[in-house]
Amino acid sequence: MYDLVLKNGKIVLSDAVLEGTIAVNDGKIVAILDSDIVPEAHQSIDVKGNYIFPGAIDTHAHLNDPGYEWREDYEHGTAAAAVGGYTTVIDMPLQNEPALTTAAIFDKKIAKVSPNAYIDYCFWGGLVPDNFEHLADLDQKGCVALKSFIGPVSPDYASLNYGQTFEAMERIQKFGGRAGFHCEDFSTIKWQEQRMKNAGRLDWQGFLDSRPLIAEMLATVDIIEIAKATGCKAHICHVSHPDVAQRIKEAQQQGYDITAETCAHYLCFSEQDVIEKGPLFKCAPPLRSKSDVDRLWDYVVDGTFSGIASDHSPCSYEEKHSEILGQKINNVFDVWGGISGIQSCVQVAFYEGCVKRGISPTVLANSMAKLPAKAFGIYGQKGDIRVGFDADFTIIDPNKEWEIKAEDLQYVNKMSAYVGLKGKGLPVYTIVRGQVIAENGKLVGLKGSGKFITKTQGE
Ligand SMILES: [Zn+2]
Repeated sequence: MYDLVLKNGKIVLSDAVLEGTIAVNDGKIVAILDSDIVPEAHQSIDVKGNYIFPGAIDTHAHLNDPGYEWREDYEHGTAAAAVGGYTTVIDMPLQNEPALTTAAIFDKKIAKVSPNAYIDYCFWGGLVPDNFEHLADLDQKGCVALKSFIGPVSPDYASLNYGQTFEAMERIQKFGGRAGFHCEDFSTIKWQEQRMKNAGRLDWQGFLDSRPLIAEMLATVDIIEIAKATGCKAHICHVSHPDVAQRIKEAQQQGYDITAETCAHYLCFSEQDVIEKGPLFKCAPPLRSKSDVDRLWDYVVDGTFSGIASDHSPCSYEEKHSEILGQKINNVFDVWGGISGIQSCVQVAFYEGCVKRGISPTVLANSMAKLPAKAFGIYGQKGDIRVGFDADFTIIDPNKEWEIKAEDLQYVNKMSAYVGLKGKGLPVYTIVRGQVIAENGKLVGLKGSGKFITKTQGE
């Protein structure tokens, strides 16, 4: 007698789609059986021919907890992730108060958030100029990677220069960690921003021109070179442009352990959306052209990307439209930068990739589960549908049509660039370690059932 059986499903692996039955005990996959075998179980779900994906992993989200719960918190952020089909989220260390830069802060953060998570979660540790002595401790505590900024960021989370990056990567290499980077060149952006302001170009085209491709390219290429020089594992966050992806691919082909992610918004929206619709579409790096969106998909298909992330970066309504922390918004440069998307990315990736572009579902099993699990050292627990792995599944009905509506969002602030988008192919079950957490757009799991995940031994 099993705890749970999933029958009549199309099981999506990274290289094949199989018809079969999945049996689960104690939260783990214990058998994958022929589809005509349906053993007894306490709970049996007829998947009705829909796709059973390995649970999707969001490699990059800002849940803002502790410290900025009025933007988002663990309860709402992980509920949204669950309804949207993610089963594990890797949460960022900044937009936390305090930012996660020491082991003592780690202890406080996990105590605060763990009672409220609906899905499993990992932490990115912080990497800032003054916490190099704490990096090994953060790794020991279970942070799966360490996050730094090359481009400008908020005053409470300083960016690294390349000298500091070199030292940090030398240190991180020693304990086998992975350093992740927001790659946009600091001086290029600062100069371009000033240039736009001096020219009175305070409109959305001015914003786009302040963050040109060259800024993302310069920082990415430099990080690749520092990774090569130090032998440190690197991860390039939220790649927005196919030319940047190509440079990463070339480094991967040379044998360097440099992983990268893109985000769902770079795979569906374009700079035209920024110009026409403004604040909700402001993010960094910015959205690119429509032809860049199409070419970026090529790097999802070929496995350059270990993750289609949300970069969920929520804020209040006022921070997009009127004021931020008491500062009035005067022009596009003052508007909060970030897209709320954690609830929409899986369905958008499925629709844009598998429905519109005819990409095999195996590509998403790879890019949203297997490769991210490997990049962040949690493969073996997460990332695949294999005996012994956690029973995490994202079950998608490929024919179900959808429209994203604000009132259906689980966020603290129910607004998103994705509102109004329509498509086909929707997560109908989100299952974490054998427990159904979301079903048909409704949250059915227990708050606090999400578990903190650390790197798999031996991975
Ligand atoms: Zn981010």
